[in-house]
Amino acid sequence: MHGAVLASDTGSAEPLDLTVEHGQRAVFCGLTSIVWLHRKIQDAFFLVVGSRTCAHLIQSAAGVMIFAEPRFATAVLEDRDLAGMADCVEEVERVIGQVIKRRPNLKTIFLVGSCPSEVIKLDLDNIARKFKERHKGQLRVVAYSGSGIETTFTQGEDSCLSNLVPDMPQASEQDQKLLIVGSLPDIVEDQFARLFAEMGITNVEFFPGRQSEYLPGVGPGTRILLAQPYLGDTARALISRGATLLKAPYPYGAQGTLEWFRAAALSFDIAVERFQDCTRAPFERAKRSLEVYKTELAGRRVAFLPDSQLEIPLARFLARECGMHPTEVATPFYDATTMSSETPLLPSGVQWYEGQNLDSSLERVRNSRPDLTVCGLGIANPLEAEGLRTKWSIELMFSPIQGFDQAGDLAELFARPLRRKSRLEVGAWN
Ligand code: SF4
Repeated sequence: MHGAVLASDTGSAEPLDLTVEHGQRAVFCGLTSIVWLHRKIQDAFFLVVGSRTCAHLIQSAAGVMIFAEPRFATAVLEDRDLAGMADCVEEVERVIGQVIKRRPNLKTIFLVGSCPSEVIKLDLDNIARKFKERHKGQLRVVAYSGSGIETTFTQGEDSCLSNLVPDMPQASEQDQKLLIVGSLPDIVEDQFARLFAEMGITNVEFFPGRQSEYLPGVGPGTRILLAQPYLGDTARALISRGATLLKAPYPYGAQGTLEWFRAAALSFDIAVERFQDCTRAPFERAKRSLEVYKTELAGRRVAFLPDSQLEIPLARFLARECGMHPTEVATPFYDATTMSSETPLLPSGVQWYEGQNLDSSLERVRNSRPDLTVCGLGIANPLEAEGLRTKWSIELMFSPIQGFDQAGDLAELFARPLRRKSRLEVGAWN
């Protein structure tokens, strides 16, 4: 039924019964987020201050740009730096100077900290402050951490955005606006902007935007709607500036997207008829696109190992809209603030975990042998070799998956590995 209120037709709003695990983890670090952030923020440069390992990671993850100068680089800390025998601050400042000279059109330089820079306690904040002062009004220099010490890869974006919040201008209470928080592919951003405008919500801004030169204002008239579920620190930083966080499930699938838009419509007093008129066609289209995949996905068992922080909303989508049975869902971190609208929608009979103990999570997957395991790249290959089908969770970050028009594409990402399995079995050697 179009207009069904997701949050009211399901289980209780009890807090999630999570088992917390500690131990060895297998996740990418926050530097990985530079891959999508540098594509999104088109006038920014990301300078990683790290080791050769960091340089290799970012180079292979982001690929080499042949026709354009890349907007990311690594200032490599050598052994002498790590041993405290060289003045790293001087060296980093020299490299920043080079970047500025070579790319005078840049509007923002992000100084991205790494495990090595954190271990030697290199004060990137201070360096950023110095350059910001020197180039006041022309260039913003912001430091943030992409380190892999006790973090996961989507936290890179959270750290980047939360460190930009202090630079956002103060907005007044009269400036009633909707701020969509979390980087979205441009195509999704355009779809969302169009739909909000049709509904009559015209003062809508996106953070991060395509250009970093302009940062949206934030204040008591700002309502924030998270487009990504891993932005707890950014949300708290915006709330501390006076903004209000709208509670909504994340825009995955037809129902999730509908409820996400509904939260905005309710907050801006949009008439129910207008909201329904605007969302009816895209909602029905999204539902139809999911029908195709239901036959492939319904009844299949899926397990999520902790990696992207998208696990909980995706498990909700797969269970409610595709009929899959999540057996185990693990998330690297559970944030009650950002998950409050997802929790009541979650299916029962699932084992929920926060954190990871790699050995025990692999053992559970081997024992339960789900039809599909969503996990990090490093774990996927060994599991595939054991005849288990996997989906790389990082692929979900590189694909447009939010919104009505992407609902079918999102389901396709989970259906593809299962289809591949059945194709392989037809002509299998064993
Ligand atoms: Fe490795 Fe840490 Fe560098 Fe990431 S930041 S590539 S985890 S050393």
